[in-house]
Amino acid sequence: MLITFQKKLKSIKKFFHTLLLIEFIKGMYVTGKYIFRPKVTLQYPIEKTPISPRFRGLHALRRYPNGEERCIACKLCEAVCPALAITIESEERNDGTRRTTRYDIDLSKCIFCGFCEESCPVDAIVETHIQDYYAENRSDLYFTKDQLLAIGDRYESEISHCRSEDSYYR
Ligand code: SF4
Ligand code: SF4
Repeated sequence: MLITFQKKLKSIKKFFHTLLLIEFIKGMYVTGKYIFRPKVTLQYPIEKTPISPRFRGLHALRRYPNGEERCIACKLCEAVCPALAITIESEERNDGTRRTTRYDIDLSKCIFCGFCEESCPVDAIVETHIQDYYAENRSDLYFTKDQLLAIGDRYESEISHCRSEDSYYR
C-alpha cells in the first residue's frame, strides 16, 4: 500500500517537473551564466594557442650559421630511439670528419618522445613547434635527410628562439 502511494507521488512530481520545464530552465540558467564570460574557443587555424618552447612536433636537422651540417653521424639518436624510427648511414669525408650519407626518420613509427633530441651532442636533430602537418599515406611520413635539412633551414629562427627560451632548463 505504502509502496503504491510512493510510486504515485513520484509520478505526480515528475509530471509537474516536466510541465514547469524545470530541466529547460536549469539548462538556460547555465547558458546565461556563461554568455557574457570571456570566450575560450579559438578559431583554429587562424587563431592558435601558445606553444611551449619544449613542444615536440615535426623533426628537423639543423646547420651551423656557415651552412655546415651539425650532425656528426655519432648515431646516438638512432641507438636511443625506442621506436627504431631513425636510420643512419655515414662515411668519412676527405677532411677526416664523419657525416651522414643517409638520415631517415619514419614518423609513422615515431612516438615523439624527444629522446633523439636530448641525446644529440650537437643540437642537430630537433623537434620543432610544427604540429599541423598531415599525410595521406604512410610514405608521406617518411622523411629523408634532405627533407629534414630543408625543414631546419626554413624554421631555423623559430628553432633557435625556442632553444634559447628553454636554455635555462637544459
Ligand atoms: S622522438 Fe623518440 S621515437 Fe621519435 S624519432 Fe626521436 S627518439 Fe625516436
Ligand atoms: S643527429 Fe645528433 S645524435 Fe644523431 S647522429 Fe647526428 S650528431 Fe649524432
